[in-house]
Amino acid sequence: MSIDIRDVNKKFGTFEALRNVSLTVPSGELVALLGPSGSGKTTLLRIIAGLESPDGGKIHFSGEDATNLHVRERQVGFVFQHYALFRHLTVFDNVAFGLNVKPRKERPAKGAIREKVLELLRLVQLEQLADRYPSQLSGGQRQRVALARALAVEPKVLLLDEPFGALDAKVRLELRRWLRRLHDEIHVTSVFVTHDQEEALEVADRIVVMNEGRVEQMGTPEEVYDNPASPFVYNFLGNVNLFHGRIDGGEARIDNISIEVPDFGSGDNIPAVAYVRPYDIEIYRSRRNHEDIESVVRHIQGAGAVARLELERLDTRELIDAELTRERYRELALRVGEAVYIRPRNLRVFAGGDYQI
Ligand code: ADP
Ligand code: MG
Repeated sequence: MSIDIRDVNKKFGTFEALRNVSLTVPSGELVALLGPSGSGKTTLLRIIAGLESPDGGKIHFSGEDATNLHVRERQVGFVFQHYALFRHLTVFDNVAFGLNVKPRKERPAKGAIREKVLELLRLVQLEQLADRYPSQLSGGQRQRVALARALAVEPKVLLLDEPFGALDAKVRLELRRWLRRLHDEIHVTSVFVTHDQEEALEVADRIVVMNEGRVEQMGTPEEVYDNPASPFVYNFLGNVNLFHGRIDGGEARIDNISIEVPDFGSGDNIPAVAYVRPYDIEIYRSRRNHEDIESVVRHIQGAGAVARLELERLDTRELIDAELTRERYRELALRVGEAVYIRPRNLRVFAGGDYQI
């Protein structure tokens, strides 16, 4: 089932929690709502669920207007960060709950419920733990039970609000991979809220980046990471270095580097900021030409798949983060305190001043 959200607005008092939000969740996809705390992710999820109503705008489920449908009629499944399981019920009975409470006419027979629950427990790899109580499970196992419980009633949409947020980093990493595999198996249309960019990049088919109640960008993980639409998205998805300059007549001059920027038209003397990822900072031991920026190595973290260096520009004293492949790092054999020349590549120029996240 696809979800179509058109021009949704929501205020709490005078505070605008959602401002003209429009987005589409294609049927069977897993879409991540990614943004900092307070950007409106949970509010949007609650509006999709029918737990909150928008002040304006429309929600369509598979082309049908669902804006005024009651939460019970929407057939959504939820998993929240702290979705407390029923403590007095076993894992099995927690998963069976949604089926057991159905009106008699719709309720499957006892044997069918049993089969369904066991199938779900196999899916979330907890069939051995069916008789345990929630207090006898790890946090990760509890969230898998919560997911099985949400799936038991065969929702048309699965809504997950920071489901792994309370778990430690290693478990979170395992669970998000597991969720991705599970989704590839069941293909239920899913909306996954997270403030963790790595989680969104790894799990989602599509990412919706939110900021202050607005959609900043929507696209595949590659699109939003490689081609951020705004300084905000650049900052939010990964580490970035800023280089300052000006645009004159369609040409940006950033330090001593000139870049054609035809999109900016013929305006003159426009302040500009170029964004450069740490892996796009080249480092040399000697100056190659006037574009190179003289710097000093301030810190080296050489362990891991890439070497991370902190460099200080001699002219402005600004710090620059760089990442080098192991090969390049060995070749350069740098030490803290040594002078180097850096050259940013793949500069992405935006008009305006600094963006502070
Ligand atoms: P997120 O999930 O991205 O952290 P939320 O959607 O929970 O953000 O909240 C967005 C903003 O709306 C926050 O500033 C929050 O304080 C405010 N907000 C959310 N729910 C309510 C409410 N029921 N009453 C008043 N303000 C709210
Ligand atoms: Mg939230």
